[in-house]
Amino acid sequence: MKLDHTRFARRLSGLYSQPLQRRFSMLVLTLVVVFLSGCINYRANYHQPRFGLVAKDAQSITLSGEPVSIPANAPSVSQGFSPAPEEKTPGDFHIDHPGIDIVGERDTPILAAADGTVLRSAFDPMFGNQISIVHDQSFNGKTIKTNYYHLNQKTVSQGDRILMGEQIGGLGTTGVLASFLHLHFEVREAVNGQWQPLNPHLFWADGIGRVTCFSEYVRVKSEVSKQLILSYPVKCKE
Ligand SMILES: [Zn+2]
Repeated sequence: MKLDHTRFARRLSGLYSQPLQRRFSMLVLTLVVVFLSGCINYRANYHQPRFGLVAKDAQSITLSGEPVSIPANAPSVSQGFSPAPEEKTPGDFHIDHPGIDIVGERDTPILAAADGTVLRSAFDPMFGNQISIVHDQSFNGKTIKTNYYHLNQKTVSQGDRILMGEQIGGLGTTGVLASFLHLHFEVREAVNGQWQPLNPHLFWADGIGRVTCFSEYVRVKSEVSKQLILSYPVKCKE
């Protein structure tokens, strides 16, 4: 009888426990991934338009306080910039998000936000296919780089010279931290040998908080600008 019970228990565990355990592990893994990445799954807001929308939590921009505006043909921003607070107080719950998330179809062209040189074109287990570009122009005297994460494919290599609006890859879900189709886009400035995150909405060619799709006009504007200005890093609908 004892043996039968053991066999029965084994069969039970084979039939039920393992899949349940697996499902539980997947749930825990997903929660950990979301917690670590700070990129919140856009599918929770799937009823919202995929173009011309800046989600509510992506509206705030620290300097001007005005809401972010976006052209109707630009892929939507599902999450905004929310860096780590300078001083963490015990008990405060904060999910860092040092960039913005832009949603789109797989392989939507990812475009260089400004002229520069590819600093890194590599695969990272957490961020997937990633590209970093260090830009020719500075901002307030600081060197600026932009990061593009979770790409489906990369089309440039380290050391390549890149112009604003040039395709550098396609939108994807690569890397453990990409639980949905999006580009995680960051702007960082060099401060004492470290790359500190900045709000990308401060750099658009049309002004603070005014998302600007790439066009020849924007390219000309950037050539005559004294400081670095950026165009939207995901191709807008024509
Ligand atoms: Zn993100």
